[in-house]
Amino acid sequence: MRVRVYYHDDFKLHSPDPYSHPENPDRLERALDGLSRGLEGVVEFREPAEGDPGVYTAVHSPSYLKSVLSMGVYGVEWIDADTYISPGTPKAVKRLAGAVKDAIGDALKGSTALILGRPPGHHAGIAGRALGAPTNGFCIVNTAALAAKILYREAGEPVLMVDFDLHHGNGTQEIFWDDPNVIHVDIHQDPATIYPGVGFPEDIGSGDGRGSKINIVTPAYSGDDIYLHALSIVEDILEEVKPQYIVVSAGFDAYRGDNDFTVMNVGSRFYWEAGKLIAEKARGIVAVLEGGYGLGLERGLPAFVAGLAGVEDPLGDREFASSGYAWKFYRRALERLEKALESAGSPLAEAVKKALEGF
Ligand SMILES: [Zn+2]
Repeated sequence: MRVRVYYHDDFKLHSPDPYSHPENPDRLERALDGLSRGLEGVVEFREPAEGDPGVYTAVHSPSYLKSVLSMGVYGVEWIDADTYISPGTPKAVKRLAGAVKDAIGDALKGSTALILGRPPGHHAGIAGRALGAPTNGFCIVNTAALAAKILYREAGEPVLMVDFDLHHGNGTQEIFWDDPNVIHVDIHQDPATIYPGVGFPEDIGSGDGRGSKINIVTPAYSGDDIYLHALSIVEDILEEVKPQYIVVSAGFDAYRGDNDFTVMNVGSRFYWEAGKLIAEKARGIVAVLEGGYGLGLERGLPAFVAGLAGVEDPLGDREFASSGYAWKFYRRALERLEKALESAGSPLAEAVKKALEGF
């Protein structure tokens, strides 16, 4: 299967000052480089038209959207210690709005689309900072959440989101906190040890949405084995939910050596298997680039796209094993998750229970 990749140079117009900020336009060069090797005939590039940024009011408050799109007119402005807005940000957001429209059209026709854009979005909640996080974590508008919201509206049945970025997708989870129609499964580093400081196993949503938000927490320095185990839980959840449409918050900062501010040891096999699994289980897919700052974009991203397309992992990285301590922590986190889901009467508890039985 071919993967349609939505890319436009306008995604580089969101640009920091000083340029040394890790979320800068070079990320897209690295990602394009990664996709240029060994994926000929698999990736089909498309340029999205400009869309109406107003569509983001489906997931953000109108006042938040208005405020971020009116900043940075004369130069870079910071909305918090991590997150900037530049004169080109609104134009990049317009292209994202166009890309999401096209990508949803593809997914509804049973195809797979990847939005290779910036700024990223999974930390952006209804009004910016989400669920008590200290900052927006480089994110402005939540494109993956928007895709899930629109897909649910169009298809009229629950949409499943998978987020394997190193960090918790707290913005997305806040947007759908009470909403049972978007099941959000998020694999991320223990929030006690990294930004955004939220996304613990007990955080499972509330009201009608209780039990539909799944946080699979991994310890720092996790290797391929723990991540592949987490993916087996995603597989069982997919088998339980049987969604027609999957939206992926695709971040590659858990890739080993991605950057100098994260410490995970995940290689190409996990990203490839994640792509393969998602492609097997859904009719239509929208994947959205989140984090990833270096090697993850050059190596994790192409492995994921190869998995989505059903071709061999072009990288074939050597696998790293996690320590006994890491496994112990991970198992404890799964026990907490199972307990929380069981107390909510969630049918998804079964997938976690099954995973624990294998220990
Ligand atoms: Zn991240």
